[in-house]
Amino acid sequence: QNIRDVYNFNAGPSALPLAVLEKAQQELVDFRGTGMSIMELSHRSPAYEEVHNQAIARLKSLYSIPENYEVLFLQGGASLQFSMIPMNFLQPEKKAGYVMTGVWSEKAFAEAKLFGEPYHVASTKESNYHIIPRMDELQYYERDAYLHLTSNNTIYGTQWKDFPDTGDVPLIADMSSDIMSKPIDVSKFAMIYAGAQKNLGPSGVTVVIIRKDILEKANPNIPTMLKYSTHAKSNSLYHTPPTFGIYMLGEVLSWIEESGGLEAIAKQNEEKAKLIYDAIDNSNGFYLGHADIESRSLMNITFRLADEELEKKFLMEAKSAGFVGLNGHRSVGGCRASTYNAVPLEACKALSEFMKQFQKKNG
Ligand code: PLP
Repeated sequence: QNIRDVYNFNAGPSALPLAVLEKAQQELVDFRGTGMSIMELSHRSPAYEEVHNQAIARLKSLYSIPENYEVLFLQGGASLQFSMIPMNFLQPEKKAGYVMTGVWSEKAFAEAKLFGEPYHVASTKESNYHIIPRMDELQYYERDAYLHLTSNNTIYGTQWKDFPDTGDVPLIADMSSDIMSKPIDVSKFAMIYAGAQKNLGPSGVTVVIIRKDILEKANPNIPTMLKYSTHAKSNSLYHTPPTFGIYMLGEVLSWIEESGGLEAIAKQNEEKAKLIYDAIDNSNGFYLGHADIESRSLMNITFRLADEELEKKFLMEAKSAGFVGLNGHRSVGGCRASTYNAVPLEACKALSEFMKQFQKKNG
């Protein structure tokens, strides 16, 4: 167990790499010889600008982001993106397809209704969102403003394994809960967005990766702060950015690089999730996974105990044993282990062992 004496399986905000926290602690009072904290520096100072530009450069390098994309740091969480996307790219009487894979897709869809005519491209709501639709179920129109999907469904524990080739229809993805968990082909997307607080750093920063050509097509008659182009033109320094959050995000990205990059992180994420899925699959129905096996998330592992009373006991005993954040989302209940990048393999081994021991004693 790490020095903080807990295994953090929180869904978000969630675990950060210990090495990053320790470095931030060391640099907190006197940031790299400036005699000030990073939080006390002007966002126009060379010391801060270096941090800012380095964070952008690391994102570009880790994801191999092509030249025709901008990386933006915004505020308002992924939730504000639900509104900014249709505000910028949808118009009355224009359609946009939404693939419905959970509550976050529903929230994004509801905002789009305020601006145009979004419609459901596919939905797995009837089965309580336990599965990602198949590619051949995605029927949308070639003249749509965009197609929106949620790459990882934090609440239900499902994740897209592959993404559709949408041709001329701009593909937009909410990657809040699996950004930087594996390599992806950014060129498939017109836009990717994510709140930072799961895989990237503290809450308060939203990362947007956006293709330059769609910036030009955006509605010009909207408030300045809500235009992507405002932030693109000013390197996300139009106004005071969340400087401490961006510094932390840059340090988390540096930690990913030092951990061997996204290939290595992806391999570790697979190994970590397998430990817990194996405990579920080998339990003869004592633990029941929520997600369809093909759609299982490597970030959020959702399960129940067949016996509801035992489930309460499981969560209580797990808490006493130092496992934090295992309660399922309030909208679905059950249990959820979030195994984001910064959750160490040891924590997953310990949870898998705990699950087996609990079954042995109570099964
Ligand atoms: N989208 C997904 C997939 C999420 O998991 C969350 C938060 O958990 C959100 C959006 C909302 O993000 P925020 O709280 O940054 O607005």
